Amino acid sequence: MFDQDKIRIRGLRIFAHHGVYEEETRLGQTFVVNATLFTSTRKGGMRDCLEDTISYADVCQFLTDYLQQNTWKLLEAAVEHTCRALLLRYPLLHKVELELEKPSAPIPLPFDSVSVSITRSWHRVFIALGSNMGDKQGYLDGAVQALKENPCIRVDKTSSYYVTEPYGDVIQDDFLNGALELHTLYSPEELLEVLHTIEKAAKRERLVHWGPRTLDLDILLYDVLIQDGPVLTIPHPDMQNRDFVLRPMVEIAPHLVHPVYQKSMKTLLNELPQK
Ligand code: AMP
Repeated sequence: MFDQDKIRIRGLRIFAHHGVYEEETRLGQTFVVNATLFTSTRKGGMRDCLEDTISYADVCQFLTDYLQQNTWKLLEAAVEHTCRALLLRYPLLHKVELELEKPSAPIPLPFDSVSVSITRSWHRVFIALGSNMGDKQGYLDGAVQALKENPCIRVDKTSSYYVTEPYGDVIQDDFLNGALELHTLYSPEELLEVLHTIEKAAKRERLVHWGPRTLDLDILLYDVLIQDGPVLTIPHPDMQNRDFVLRPMVEIAPHLVHPVYQKSMKTLLNELPQK
C-alpha cells in the first residue's frame, strides 16, 4: 500500500575508475549518482525511528564503497551490478531507480553529462514443482533447497506436496506436486535458466512427452506479467486446467487473481470439472 514511497539521493559525487579507455581506469574521474529508493516509509514515519527505514547516509556510503571497489568498462554494467547489490543489501528496498552520470566522459565535443539510468526490483513469482520417479519427495525438497541457496531468490512460502494421478496416455507412476512463492531479481528468462539447471542437477531425463520425470519446474506467474514468447509463456498456459497446480496454489495464495482470467486461484479450482 505504501510501497510507492520514495527516498531520493541526488548528485552524490564519487571518484572512481570505470570506463572503456585505459586512461579512465588508470586515472579515474568523478561520477555522479542519482538514486530513488522505493520502500514503505510508513513505519519510519509513524515511529520516527531510523531502524524502521533505510538510512540514506548508509546508502551513500555503500554506493561510494561499491563503485570505488569495483571497476566496469560500461556505465550499463556499473548500474546493473550496483542495483543488484543495493537490493540484496537492504531488505526494506523493493525497487530502485539508479542513474550514473559521467560529466567528464572522454568525448571531444561540448556536453554537460552522459548517463545511464535503470530501474530494478524484486519480482513475485509462483513456481510449480512435480516429480514422478525415484525419491520424489527428495527431488522436490532438493529443488526448494537449491532455490533457497540462490542469493537472488527468496523463497517465501511452500505448499504441501500432493499425490496426483499422471495425465496423458503414458502408463507411469503417480506424481508428487507442489507450488511455491518466491521473490527474485531474475528476469523470467534468467529464472527459467536457473530452473533448468536445477532440473539437470536432478538428472532429469525425459524420453516421452508427458512421460516420467525426476523433476519438473514451471513458472506459473511472474508479477502480473502476460507474455507469450517462443521459449516462455506466462502465466503458464495450462495452470487454470490443472487440479495438481491449483490445489497447492490455493493452499499458499487462495485469493491471488490470475492476470488473464481475472479469477482467484480458489475460483479457478472450484470451476474445474469434477473428475
Ligand atoms: P516442460 O518441462 O514440459 O514443462 O517444458 C519445458 C519447456 O517449456 C521449457 O524449456 C520452456 O521453454 C517451455 N515453457 C514455456 N512456458 C513455460 C513456463 N511458464 N514455465 C516453464 N517452462 C515453460
